[in-house]
Amino acid sequence: MPTTDYDAIVLGAGAAGLMCAAVAGQRGKRVLLLDHAEEVGKKILISGGGRCNFTNIHTVPDRYISANPHFAKSALARYAPADFITLVDRYGIAHHEKTLGQLFCDGSAKQIVAMLLEECAKGGVDVRCGQPVRDVAHADGAFRVTFGDQRFMALNLVIATGGPSIPKMGATGFAYDLARHFGLKVVEPRPALVPLTLGGDDVLFRDLSGVATAVQARAGKAAFREAALFTHRGLSGPAILQISSYWRHGDPVTIDFLPDAAPGWLVEAKRARPRATLASALALPDRLAQTLADRLALPGELGAQTDRKLADAEARLRHWTFHPNGTEGFAKAEVTVGGISTANLSSQTMMAKSVPGLYAIGEAVDVTGWLGGYNFQWAWASGYAAGQAL
Ligand SMILES: Cc1cc2nc3c(=O)[nH]c(=O)nc-3n(C[C@H](O)[C@H](O)[C@H](O)COP(=O)(O)OP(=O)(O)OC[C@H]3O[C@@H](n4cnc5c(N)ncnc54)[C@H](O)[C@@H]3O)c2cc1C
Repeated sequence: MPTTDYDAIVLGAGAAGLMCAAVAGQRGKRVLLLDHAEEVGKKILISGGGRCNFTNIHTVPDRYISANPHFAKSALARYAPADFITLVDRYGIAHHEKTLGQLFCDGSAKQIVAMLLEECAKGGVDVRCGQPVRDVAHADGAFRVTFGDQRFMALNLVIATGGPSIPKMGATGFAYDLARHFGLKVVEPRPALVPLTLGGDDVLFRDLSGVATAVQARAGKAAFREAALFTHRGLSGPAILQISSYWRHGDPVTIDFLPDAAPGWLVEAKRARPRATLASALALPDRLAQTLADRLALPGELGAQTDRKLADAEARLRHWTFHPNGTEGFAKAEVTVGGISTANLSSQTMMAKSVPGLYAIGEAVDVTGWLGGYNFQWAWASGYAAGQAL
């Protein structure tokens, strides 16, 4: 089998791989970008409901989860949201801020993929899709990749095959297998930005499927103030998805159902409207208010309750504790927490410290962003760092 030579082979034509290949190609490197899917950037295409939340203008390193919270700093500083926005603007892609610094295309995520492919073309990147990566070998300082029935060789290999979230879309744990093969450690991968499931005593809340409300959700030290949504399996919505990235099996999740209410509001409500019931006093969707009131077991009018009981009820509404029995798993997880250990990589270049020429970028690495464009920003930034170093 003849072998074709490149300076770098990038495995995975997702967000990070496309960026890395384009940057290295435009620096004059001969780059081959390989993907087993039929088309590149499939997760970009479905992201943000088809409009791609491509960055977050509030990107800072503490919005990323990693065993080493300092690792992402260097790459994020060298390729900022403003750099990606400049690129998007250069292509005339209209965009808007939806909420909390999240930037979306006005049109379609297809524009982002087309832009990245055009950037690759400008760098002369050879993009090939739709074949399995059959083998990756390393000998005499060179990497040999068998892709379908073709063999390629390069002095540099970039692992950019992402994490195992949403296997239906072709996501795999290939990056971890490859990393382990080269002696790199993998921090236990867990589904993140994923709905939580309820069982036991909490199962009653599943009847509220479809009800959403603004809450503050907490798991351990992490707290997010956004909407929560009850589902037929448990809890979802942005506040819960955010919390899920920090949640561990066995941990409780605490919800403040009335984060805007002033302390003592329920006793105040009794003074102002003694004939009201607890359910009618709760500024929440009706079905949720009724379920919570039933659980608090304070029947009748507020005027008939002692201040003490109302203060206790208020405290429970501020710290309502759920005991999720799991998550909806990788099938429904937007991202993966964990991945290739940052301890094995240079934070400047993303190169493996023990294997010269081997790089890992994007979601494959143990760096996971919050919901809201942070994950793509990491993909662009880590891809750029490696693309500059190749
Ligand atoms: C439904 C959904 C919506 C999302 N929305 C957003 C959003 O709006 N904003 C945001 O910031 N993040 C979002 N994300 C997260 C974001 O998509 C990922 O963090 C990002 O795509 C990671 O980029 P990556 O290049 O590392 O991996 P990917 O983009 O996953 O790319 C990996 C590539 O590797 C290929 N591959 C995998 N295994 C192999 C193999 N064995 N051989 C060859 N190729 C392989 C895949 O086909 C894929 O093309 C969303 C994720 C999902 C699932």
